[in-house]
Amino acid sequence: MPTTHAHVKKLVDRLVTLPSGQGGMFETVEDERKAVRTELGKALERYARSDADATTIVDRLMEGKFRPTPGEMKAVADALPAQRQAARLPEPCETCQRSDFVEVERNGVSAAGRCACARGQRLAAADKLRAEELERLHGERRL
Ligand SMILES: [Zn+2]
Repeated sequence: MPTTHAHVKKLVDRLVTLPSGQGGMFETVEDERKAVRTELGKALERYARSDADATTIVDRLMEGKFRPTPGEMKAVADALPAQRQAARLPEPCETCQRSDFVEVERNGVSAAGRCACARGQRLAAADKLRAEELERLHGERRL
């Protein structure tokens, strides 16, 4: 089911509460505000395949410091299938049956990490994607 207009509108209401990060923090002119809302709404309708997807995308984007550009919205939308894949996890092995975090040794130091089994490796891949996404969202905006 594609996105519905009313749902997208509600999500855009949330996104515009983030500062623009480009010079002025918020638009002062009504026309500009409208243009921004239209741009974000169109991008969301283009990149989200359903209302549920759109909500997930906006939840992620709201973790950022600034209002997203359509390009950032696309990057988050593109990462969704891989994250869903990671969400369908194989059964835990003997090592990680009690917790998804296991003790691993790195350079002779033990720390909490992911298991070496199929489940652990999927979790590690999802961790990496998420870290990259957050880095992008929190990165300094070039003016
Ligand atoms: Zn395991």
